[in-house]
Amino acid sequence: MSDRLIIFDTTLRDGEQSPGATLTSSEKLETARQLAKLGVDVMEAGFPAASPGDLMAVQMIAREVKGVTIAALARTNEHDVTKAWEGVRDAESARIHTFIATSPVHMKYKLRKSPDEVVEAARAAVTLAKRFVDDVEFSAEDATRSEWDFLCRIVAVAIEAGATTINLPDTVGYTTPEEYARLIKHIRANVPGAEDIVLSVHCHNDLGMATANTLSAIDAGARQAEVTVNGIGERAGNTSLEEVVMALHTRKDFFGGLVPRVDTKQIVPTSKLVSHLTGILVQPNKAIVGANAFAHEAGIHQDGMLKNRDTYEIMTPQSVGLEMSRLVLGKHSGRAGFTARLNELGFDGIPKDKINELYQRFIELSDRKKTVTNADIIAIIEEDAQPKDDLYVLSGWRANSGNDGRAEAWVKVLIEGVDREASANGNGQIDALFKAIDKLIPGGCSLESFHIDAVTPGEDAQGEVSVRVRCGEHVYNGRGVATDIVEASVRAYMKALNRGTVVAEVTA
Ligand SMILES: [Zn+2]
Repeated sequence: MSDRLIIFDTTLRDGEQSPGATLTSSEKLETARQLAKLGVDVMEAGFPAASPGDLMAVQMIAREVKGVTIAALARTNEHDVTKAWEGVRDAESARIHTFIATSPVHMKYKLRKSPDEVVEAARAAVTLAKRFVDDVEFSAEDATRSEWDFLCRIVAVAIEAGATTINLPDTVGYTTPEEYARLIKHIRANVPGAEDIVLSVHCHNDLGMATANTLSAIDAGARQAEVTVNGIGERAGNTSLEEVVMALHTRKDFFGGLVPRVDTKQIVPTSKLVSHLTGILVQPNKAIVGANAFAHEAGIHQDGMLKNRDTYEIMTPQSVGLEMSRLVLGKHSGRAGFTARLNELGFDGIPKDKINELYQRFIELSDRKKTVTNADIIAIIEEDAQPKDDLYVLSGWRANSGNDGRAEAWVKVLIEGVDREASANGNGQIDALFKAIDKLIPGGCSLESFHIDAVTPGEDAQGEVSVRVRCGEHVYNGRGVATDIVEASVRAYMKALNRGTVVAEVTA
């Protein structure tokens, strides 16, 4: 059994399937670069057969992101497998990941295939993928609700056809830690050739057991964990990368030193980037990356922490990159100080003219805010990472309100090179502004949720606004950051509406 654990990140594929999480190609590339910096072993960049946009994004990532295996997903048909190869063929290291459902309910009602047909489809897809690339993964979708004898049969066929990784997903979040461990051991003991391939696990969190199930399977011999940043994904989400990685680090004693190569100090920056780009907030009490994960509130805990941090702290905030958030910069820090801080935060390799642009925003911010923290700087950079190819660009706004409850707003939006203006009244400035924007942007979108947060403590903190917009059957998330919460709200709303246009293009 190998003593290396492979971290397979599927934030860009399974994670992007979260409601409203749709990313543009440039946002996907930005995320992929950060995942490479984080040090995942494999990243699933997308599902190329799904749409031309998906294929393009996978190709872009395969060409530009180095030092990591790039995987693409494919159903077990010729078209999908060929598209997957088209997606990853230029990668430094490429993998095709093909899957078919193996549970009775999926085979009968979803696939309408007999078990024999399913086995043959798996054999054909793995054989075809193997003609393109040596690194082939096969997943038996809904493995945890499949019959074990049938699983052994199909896994044996996939291995015989050349699969080098076999994944046994808990697609619907149904299994329990002990049962999953037994399944892993059963496959290992009963399938010829299982000793020579990597067994992989992929869990969903429907019953809140995704991390527990993943760790239990690793303990039983699985050597690849499929995870997403912040645990985003279909329904209740996937296994969270940060939880698995930090559990293996913190409990080396239990897991026999099976430590992934991930740079744990990049965990918090990656979490913030993914949350910002997808618009999916992290719950405050989320393990490892939640705002309260390292906050000690109760007096008795604080007392213990002051005497010895080990009393209540099993890992340090520094180890996950939640460092220095109190180190401050001011207007007098200068360009050199600002650039040095960018480097410390891991944003190296930014071109000089881009640094000048960011520095201007930093100066503007420090005019409005006494102290600028690392969290503020990260917010500036993430805000800047937004695509510049937006269809709708807000070029001006004004709003006012009084104690009679009435508010009026005016906006100017650049649409395909033409400035258009509109005014509206509303219940408060933000409502009036959104209504004015709605007059200019068609599509019948409506606001579903609105959430405001402070990036840092203090009364001059930057406000971070997250909105969710529904346009027909799709929902889109958007986030905006500014010291003025009205400005942050308008930016977030524009972002969500722009995201809608990207998706409309791709599916058209
Ligand atoms: Zn999944």
